[in-house]
Parts: sequence; structure tokens; C-alpha cells
Amino acid sequence: SRNGAEARTEDAPPSGVDVFVPHSARVYDWWLGGKDNFAADRAMGAAMIEAIPTLPSMAKENRRFVHRVARYLVTEAGIRQFIDIGTGIPTRPNLHEVAQAIAPETRVVYVDNDPIVLAHARALMISSEQGRSEYIHADLRRPEQILADARLTDTLDLGRPVALTLIAVLMLLSDEDDPMGRLATLMRALPSGSYLAITHPTQEFNPAEMNAAVAAATRGGMTLVPRTRAEVERFFDGWKLVEPGVVPVRAWRPDDGDPADPKSAYYWAGLARKP
Ligand code: SAH
Repeated sequence: SRNGAEARTEDAPPSGVDVFVPHSARVYDWWLGGKDNFAADRAMGAAMIEAIPTLPSMAKENRRFVHRVARYLVTEAGIRQFIDIGTGIPTRPNLHEVAQAIAPETRVVYVDNDPIVLAHARALMISSEQGRSEYIHADLRRPEQILADARLTDTLDLGRPVALTLIAVLMLLSDEDDPMGRLATLMRALPSGSYLAITHPTQEFNPAEMNAAVAAATRGGMTLVPRTRAEVERFFDGWKLVEPGVVPVRAWRPDDGDPADPKSAYYWAGLARKP
């Protein structure tokens, strides 16, 4: 595949993968131009593009945020340890590649619950020699399990600041899944000086298009919960938002000046520091 990983999903899907049910990781992969997706994922992806024609460019804006926030965390905040939950199918540059390009000793623990991502884990774990990159197959809805995993505790020093990144994943948890509670468990486990970065799709920039996308997702059996700015801000509860706060993803510390139309990508984005 494009990342040199061993998985060739069209040939033989990894065990645990139902190719007839669309899955968020593979739909997202297809929007980004990846090859690790099946007909059901492409059908779902296309139905959502019918609802929101500019979705693929929004996915790319979301990836650009990953790069900017990783650079900020390493360069401005001195962070050298990351936990990334809802990692997705490897997309170069991955988080550890961005961070290690600046600070090669950076350690990243990736977490995802999709067997397709697991099949690519080795591609995610090609680390700099000085740093480390590990992968845990686990579920955000079981934060205690993530925190207790030996691959995490062997890789990271939870006595020192960690950046927790939840990029385009919380919308896949319904309110009944208690995303606030799961996140609070993770946040409590991290020491003062740690950071939390979130991107989250919202209905507030274009309600009609987002509602249509939610309807398409629901028809395909996929959970998609857009949330308001107030709801996204609540995820950071008790931590201090870094300027400019929770803003449209394109407006979060842009590299090339303020975008003309920041709300053209329907995501809120924010970063906060634990006091
Ligand atoms: N963070 C990446 C990928 C986003 S796609 C990026 O923004 O580029 C969402 C990812 O979250 C998918 O890979 C999906 O498999 C994963 N995911 C969905 N629900 C999850 C859960 N409950 N626990 C862990 N990962 C989950």
C-alpha cells in the first residue's frame, strides 16, 4: 500500500473486518485518497459527499491541524510524549513523524479500535531511532484499559507531561457512550502541564449539509454526532485553553495567515493545558 505497510486490504481483509459494513476509518481513508477501503466504505463516503460536497478537503484540513498542533506541542510546549486515540489508517506524515522531525526523542502511543488500523500498526511504528512509536488496539470507551496497557506504561512516563490527541474521533461516540466521562478518566491520569487537543465536526457552520451527512451516516449504520462549540469546550473542562481557544479548524494558528473563510471546514478545534 502507499505507506509500505504489509496489509493489502483488497486481497485479504484482516480478521475481524466485515467488508460489507462501512467503517469510519476506511471511509475517512477513502476521502483522503487512500486505498484501504471497500465498496461499502466508498458507497458511504460518496453518500456523505453528496450531503457535504467539500468533505474530502475538510478531511485534509483536519490532517493539517494534526501537523500544526504537533509542531506547536513539540516546539512551543516542550512536549515529548503523545497518546493519540482514534489514530486512523496511517497517513503520511503521521503524528510521530511530524513530532520526531523536530524532536527525534519523542514517544507516541497510538490507539484505535479498528482491525484495519491494527493491520497497519507496523507502518505506524517505524520510529526514529531515538524515539518510540507504539500501537495499542483498544477502545476509547474503555479508558482504564488504555491507561493500564503495558505498551503505554513501558513507553510513556505518566509523571511527566503528555499530549493527548483526539482528532476527529469523539463524534463517533454517542452521548450514551459518555465521551465526557471517558475523556475525564484519561485527563485525570495525566500530570499538570499535559495537553489535550481535539477536533470535532459541528452542525453550526452549515446545519443543512451536516444534517444530511448525519442522515447518510445513520442510514449506513454509522454513529456521527456533530457537536456545538459549547459542547466541544466542555470536553476541555478544568484545563486552560491555549489561544485562540475553540475555533474553526482552519482558524487554529494557521500557517499562512487567517483563512478567508474559516468556516469552510465544519470542524471545531482546540488545545488546552492542564493547570
Ligand atoms: N485521527 C485521525 C483519524 C480519524 S478517523 C485523523 O484525524 O486523521 C476516526 C478513527 O477513530 C478511525 O480510525 C476509527 O477506527 C477510530 N475509532 C472510532 N471509534 C473508536 C473508539 N471507540 N475507540 C478507538 N478508536 C476509535
